[in-house]
Amino acid sequence: MAGSAKSRIRQYFRDHAGEVVTAAQLQAVAQPVSEWARRVRELRDEEGWPIRTNHDTQDLKPGEYMLVGEPPAQSTKAMVRTMSQRLRAQVLDRDGSTCQMCGKTAGDIDPDTGRLVRLHIGHIVDKSFGGEDKLANLRTLCSTCNQGAKNITTEKPSTIWLLSQVRRAGNGEQLAVYNWLKSKYESQPTSPVASSELPGFDG
Ligand SMILES: [Zn+2]
Repeated sequence: MAGSAKSRIRQYFRDHAGEVVTAAQLQAVAQPVSEWARRVRELRDEEGWPIRTNHDTQDLKPGEYMLVGEPPAQSTKAMVRTMSQRLRAQVLDRDGSTCQMCGKTAGDIDPDTGRLVRLHIGHIVDKSFGGEDKLANLRTLCSTCNQGAKNITTEKPSTIWLLSQVRRAGNGEQLAVYNWLKSKYESQPTSPVASSELPGFDG
C-alpha cells in the first residue's frame, strides 16, 4: 500500500468506520513501520479522530479500536497543526494532572469503571467552533469525562439548553460562538426562528 503508515491507518479506519478494528489488523496495515500504536494515539489525541478503545467503552476489549464518527475536517492549517508535547505538558502541569471536571488524577482507579484513570487534553471551545490550541482553551480531562463531553456534542442540543450554556460561558467563549455564527450566516439568507418558539427568550 502507498503512503505513510499513518495515512494508511487513516484510510483503514475510514474504510472500517463503525467496525471493530484489531491491533493485529493495524499492525499489518502499518508494516513495515512498527509504531502503529503511536500513530493511532496521534490520530486520537492530536488530530481529534473519534477512535474509541477499551479505555473509553466496555464494548471493546484491549487491543480493539473503533472509529465512531466522522474524523475532523482538515481543510484549514489550524486543524492540521498538532498540539505540541510542550503545550500538553503545560496543560497537565497547570491542572496538576487532575481532571478538571471530576478531580480524578492519573493513577487513580475510576470507581465507575474499575480501571486506571487516563488523562486527555481537551479543548474548552471545540476546534470546529474556532477553538485554538492555546493554553487558555485547553483543559485536562479523564477518559470518562472526556467521553461524556463528546457524547453531549453528538446529541442535537435544544435551543433553550444551548442558550443557557452560551449565557453562562465566559466572554471569550461567547465571542467565539458569536464569530462562528456571524461567519456562518453572513453569507446566506437567514430564516429566523420566531420568538414565540423560544419560551423565556425576549431577544
Ligand atoms: Zn473526570
